[in-house]
Amino acid sequence: MSDTALMPTLFLSHGSPMLAVEDSPAGRFLEALAPRLPRPRAVVVASAHFAAAPVLVGAAAWPATIHDFGRFPDALFRIQYPAPGHPALAEDIARQLIAAGIAASAWPDQGLDHGVWVPLRRIFPDADIPVVPLSVNPRADARTHFALGQALASLRRDGVLVVGSGGFVHNLGDLVWTERDAPMPEWATAFADWMRARLADGDLTALLDWARRAPEAHRAHPTVEHLLPLFVALGAAGDRPRVETLHRSHEFGSLALDAFAFH
Ligand code: ZN
Repeated sequence: MSDTALMPTLFLSHGSPMLAVEDSPAGRFLEALAPRLPRPRAVVVASAHFAAAPVLVGAAAWPATIHDFGRFPDALFRIQYPAPGHPALAEDIARQLIAAGIAASAWPDQGLDHGVWVPLRRIFPDADIPVVPLSVNPRADARTHFALGQALASLRRDGVLVVGSGGFVHNLGDLVWTERDAPMPEWATAFADWMRARLADGDLTALLDWARRAPEAHRAHPTVEHLLPLFVALGAAGDRPRVETLHRSHEFGSLALDAFAFH
């Protein structure tokens, strides 16, 4: 990936918060990712766990680490990801969105939710690259989030890494929590394979209509917020991006942890 000056955009599945600390295929993938990317001057992360409407762009100079999860080991709650923010870039992004007809504002109090810091801690452990969190709207559709990404497409020419952080298959009620290596159930494979094929084909029409067209769409995403970041990353990659599969694994049965780069 590093042979191109243009920054790719990424979709990352952040899995369980244990991904922050545990050795796993997904964790090892994230740890090996940075050398494959141009070094970004900032990272903008659209996270499934930052829900707002209209769009909010985190503009804290020093965003707090938010431990927005339930019963997990104390060690996870002690983790800090002390990356700086980038208030000027956040203001620029808000202006850029407004210019594209998307209601947005910079929000100085926003910290980094675990959809942001869990993967970034593995990719950029030094926490020395400024991070700007970006909200998604769980009540809006794929097309809306694709348009949000499109409005940010200039960022990749400007050395900014745009990341969508969510989950490729995400149904917490359907996980085998006691068995990390449980096999992926057929319904989840059906959904994931459909998405993978549409991404490989660049079939945007089908992808943006995933909720109606994909098999087992509702079971794969009973709520849609974990898939929406994918469309932000896809939109931010510009017209007809090349899709690169970066990673594929799953945990607890159906929790698919696919990751993609869009070039
Ligand atoms: Zn999540």
